[in-house]
Amino acid sequence: MKMRRKGILIVVSGFSGVGKGTLMKQLVHSYDNYALSVSMTTRQPRPGESDGKEYFFVSREVFEKTIAENGLIEYANYCGNYYGTPKEYVEKQLEKGKDVILEIEIQGALKVREQFPTALLLFVMPPSAQELKKRLEGRGTETEEVIDKRLKRATEEAEGIENYDFIVINDKLEECVKEMHGLILAAHETPDRNQEFIDNMRKELENFAK
Ligand code: 5GP
Repeated sequence: MKMRRKGILIVVSGFSGVGKGTLMKQLVHSYDNYALSVSMTTRQPRPGESDGKEYFFVSREVFEKTIAENGLIEYANYCGNYYGTPKEYVEKQLEKGKDVILEIEIQGALKVREQFPTALLLFVMPPSAQELKKRLEGRGTETEEVIDKRLKRATEEAEGIENYDFIVINDKLEECVKEMHGLILAAHETPDRNQEFIDNMRKELENFAK
């Protein structure tokens, strides 16, 4: 009998404006095996964002104190602000067997992979660069200066895409959500994510041979 399904960490990255937030909300809403980690950040909330929902919005002092207390799995500086993943929530949800989604940028993604070698890394792409610019501008929540900064950052991040396990293209939301879910289900079946099951099978087979 296969052992109780263990949760895996799913890291989702993608350029600013690609629609990761909406995708993740839809994924969590559509299937019940996911837990979405809420990050801590020093950036200001956008209109409509609230503390504890999109992010825990904190001061620089609080963020640095959390780093010092080893309370984050990883953190990074993105366009002048700190962003980090609180450790406790992630560990608890994994223990419960949930697949925990971290929506984080590339530096953080690579740090997560070092600590959790079986983490699944997904990179969300827009159908085209032009479409990305349109989405960023259409969001209407950032100044032109911030949009420029984020597009420059996208150019840097594009360098690292080959570090990810899969790319997914966010053209139609529903399709993209289904595709991500399919990739995650498949990832659960790889040998490296089932080592305990495989080892036990070997032991039992050896017992037969005795
Ligand atoms: P935004 O300001 O648009 O919400 O996020 C900016 C970038 O920070 C996005 O690429 C987002 O994925 C990333 N980000 C959000 N939370 C975290 C986190 O906890 N750690 C890291 N490394 N990046 C994060």
